[in-house]
Amino acid sequence: MMRILIVEDETRLARRLARVLRGEGYAAETVGDGRSALARALAEPFDLLIVDWMLPDLDGIQVVRRLRTAEMSVPILMLTARGQIEDRVTGLDAGADDYLPKPFALSEMLARVRAIARWPRDEKKTDLILRAGDVSLDPVRHAVWRAEEPVDLSAKEFALLATFMQRPKQVFTRSVLLDTVWGGHDDNYGNVVDLYVSYLRKKLDHEGARSHIRTVRGVGYTFDPQPGP
Ligand code: CA
Repeated sequence: MMRILIVEDETRLARRLARVLRGEGYAAETVGDGRSALARALAEPFDLLIVDWMLPDLDGIQVVRRLRTAEMSVPILMLTARGQIEDRVTGLDAGADDYLPKPFALSEMLARVRAIARWPRDEKKTDLILRAGDVSLDPVRHAVWRAEEPVDLSAKEFALLATFMQRPKQVFTRSVLLDTVWGGHDDNYGNVVDLYVSYLRKKLDHEGARSHIRTVRGVGYTFDPQPGP
């Protein structure tokens, strides 16, 4: 079943879209702000995101940019009341795949969703598997393996590992990780990153070997594909 995430702060519209999509046999869920959208989309595999431009905190364009920066290739349909051609270009440049000006007929929205559902995706699915050393991560099936053995991760652990594996050897600060995985950075949450890194290390690392996730003192963490013995 095709999974759709609707990102729209106008609750009534969001609910109506979800209802119509479910009526057509899609699995639809809604979130009302940009940060929650980012956190959901990074934690779970969706087949389509419907993202309104005007949102509280992060706007739709920022959500799209951040997802594309994280190399999430999920199709994105932008909604916007801003009908100008320049806005359309901005949306597409940011990485949206299609664009629907408000107000729109629900039949028009469904036609766009059906069109996106027909896009070839098999190629993308295999390309999406991330591999680094003996660790593989499949964002579509939400699965992780270490040395061919499945590793059972929580949604946040998975999102954190995906963030690391999309950019092996890049050093991430705690605040970037908080922003990407937890959808916001409040300094009081710095410990959350450390805690989840310790969970991931327990699950991923071979006993007695060096950790895949290396602490960079005073900066943050980095993923090392070949940590060595
Ligand atoms: Ca809105």
